[in-house]
Amino acid sequence: MRAQIVAMTSENLDMDAIKRAGDILKAGGLVAFPTETVYGLGGNALDPQASMKIYAAKGRPSDNPLIVHIAEIDQLAKIATEIPQGAKILAEKYWPGPLTMILPKADIVPKETTGGLDSVAVRFPSDRIAQELIKAAGGFVAAPSANTSGRPSPTMAEHVEEDLGDAIDMIIDGGQVGIGLESTIVDVPVVLRPGYISLEMLKETLGDVRMDRGLLITDNSVHPKAPGMKYRHYAPKADLSIVEGTEEQVIDCINRLSADAEKKGLKVGVIATNETKDRYAHADVFSIGSREEEETIAHHLYEVLRNFDDDRVDLIYSEAFYTPRMGQAIMNRLLKAAGHKIINAQEEKK
Ligand code: AMP
Ligand code: MG
Repeated sequence: MRAQIVAMTSENLDMDAIKRAGDILKAGGLVAFPTETVYGLGGNALDPQASMKIYAAKGRPSDNPLIVHIAEIDQLAKIATEIPQGAKILAEKYWPGPLTMILPKADIVPKETTGGLDSVAVRFPSDRIAQELIKAAGGFVAAPSANTSGRPSPTMAEHVEEDLGDAIDMIIDGGQVGIGLESTIVDVPVVLRPGYISLEMLKETLGDVRMDRGLLITDNSVHPKAPGMKYRHYAPKADLSIVEGTEEQVIDCINRLSADAEKKGLKVGVIATNETKDRYAHADVFSIGSREEEETIAHHLYEVLRNFDDDRVDLIYSEAFYTPRMGQAIMNRLLKAAGHKIINAQEEKK
């Protein structure tokens, strides 16, 4: 099977194609579609067989639960047995949008969809294509990121085709996504995965919100609460290291390390920014965006990692991006992609 690809934009929806996509989902098939975060691989969330198909297509471990997407707030009460006050406040403020909430699941949600858990992850996306598709499919679409498990999440339909083109029925090409990182996940009042909606924004809305300790502690003593966060993820094929220090130290260190590697015949990639890209002497240098506009860094992260796969580099050195608002989310993904390999530029010099 080769996926049928249909293109549309949020401003110019192809409602016939959306109806066909909805029918595929109702019949138990799989359709990839754009959302404001990354592309999702959709299946009917209330159909255990469809969820099994999603795990199989992605090669995803079946203990890693799926997020259920809704497109009308009234649908929430059908899949969650209880909605705590904090969750109501967050839904009011951030839905539709890039926020996922963990709630106690109703019986109609099969355990296949929730990886065996009694809770369900729910999101109401703001992307119009996603919303219309969810409605056409009957209201509940389970959709993890539409990549092969372990690879960087897809931010363009081409990425989905590359990973899953032979495994699914249809791909809706809505162009490049807006945010480029997966949703923030909250089990009120704990953040299980950082995202575009930052800890600070959540604190402003709810007051008492904290990061899951399992995200902050990277040895194996504390497990993250979101099962998916324990897997190495988002990983490029090359060996990726993050270099930390002042701007000057980092540039100097990466230049030295890449010169050494190239002497050994290795092909090196560097993840730089608009501000620094001209200062790397060696290597295949890729600017991820501007530190002045941190959204651009989030937006290009997965694309850059995939581009290095295409360029077949052996090693990648990346600057660190502890930017003020999205730094937590960006570094969470980058550290996972690097398997937590960090080089301290100052110590490296010694
Ligand atoms: P993805 O859809 O690929 O972005 O991944 C979904 C993330 O949500 C994974 O990290 C899951 O482990 C997490 N998740 C989904 N359902 C739950 C749940 N019921 N409790 C905790 N984490 C969940
Ligand atoms: Mg994913």
